[in-house]
Amino acid sequence: MYRATLILGDGIGPEVIEATKIIIDELVDIEWDVVEVGERALRKYGAPLPDEVIESIRRNKIALKGPVTTKLGMGGFKSVTVALRKIFDLYANIRPFRSIPNVSPYENVDIVICRENTEDLYSGIEFYASDNLTIELVEYLEEKLGIKISRDSAISFKVISTYNTKRISEFAFQYAIKNNRKKVTIVHKSNILKATDGLFLEITKRVAERYNRYDIAVEDRIIDNMALQLIQNPQSYDLLLTPNLYGDILSDLCAGLIGGLGLCPGANVGEKYAIFEPIHGSAPDIAGKGLANPTAAILSGAIMLDHLGKKEEAEMIRKAISSIYTEGRKLTYDIASRIGVSPVNTIEFTKEVIRKIKEFM
Ligand code: NAD
Repeated sequence: MYRATLILGDGIGPEVIEATKIIIDELVDIEWDVVEVGERALRKYGAPLPDEVIESIRRNKIALKGPVTTKLGMGGFKSVTVALRKIFDLYANIRPFRSIPNVSPYENVDIVICRENTEDLYSGIEFYASDNLTIELVEYLEEKLGIKISRDSAISFKVISTYNTKRISEFAFQYAIKNNRKKVTIVHKSNILKATDGLFLEITKRVAERYNRYDIAVEDRIIDNMALQLIQNPQSYDLLLTPNLYGDILSDLCAGLIGGLGLCPGANVGEKYAIFEPIHGSAPDIAGKGLANPTAAILSGAIMLDHLGKKEEAEMIRKAISSIYTEGRKLTYDIASRIGVSPVNTIEFTKEVIRKIKEFM
């Protein structure tokens, strides 16, 4: 018997996470701690990330998580997703993107993004425009360092450390070895951001040298060129090693290559803890309508089973999903509408996955 924390999330989170739980329950005996975060937790418990959630993950070491709404701009609470990654030091964010025949706009894409998950512009060190602290910082910079910044500015810190870059690089090369990846592309903007991205490039290349006895090619790309290359020639790329922000943006681009956000799973991994979650957000535009595609969440659940050593069960889930897309008859609206078949709802899709799994058992 395993134990795991189940974080429902906001918007379509509960729909896709419940679907995943039902499927996993068919295959593996897991006792779930079901918890709430985000807007639902704020309404119920007065906090978007209640202490019980943190304690539950600390106890269970792993969690399956739905997306959480974070309000745009200055209002609202800080991102619960980013907070969890920091609290549990989940320094590696892994997102595989593989084309699905007859569904993906691009064929033969097989890319993994390995993204540093704890720092960069997501360090949370922010100074709001017109705050006293911001004005003090602006004055300090001018008086002590002669750096002039307009007093009405807002400032966010981009932090890249040697330690975090080293460990994400080690993780990426270890991942490449274990998963038979043949090329690592380091993504950066070191032509402009010489201090931060310059350090990222230097350290990643230094780590790469230690792996040169393996059959893994190493190259680097500037982020803007990387975006162009991924649109023009995605089949040439294998594993992308990125700082936090570029990995976040390229993830959505890669999701577009293979058919949309509803298809893409993810894992946040640290030394002791791991949280598995789809890459998409809470999709408030379709929440509660049965329109959500649970594939990304279900495949995140499969990665969680890999992590627990239940490889056969994880493979069964992937096989069931693959078979559904190959047949192309029972698809949720995001995919069905694109390929011109009538859609099924989230629950019907989930039942079809279970039916397929039972066929394979
Ligand atoms: P989103 O991923 O929620 O939605 C973008 C578009 O993709 C929408 O049209 C949505 O309907 C569609 N979509 C997303 N997932 C889908 C699925 N499973 N099935 C079918 N269609 C799907 O991105 P957004 O609109 O930018 O963000 C909404 C909220 O989610 C924001 O508050 C954002 O901060 C949050 N967010 C959370 C996470 C997370 O918790 N990991 C990640 C990204 C965004």
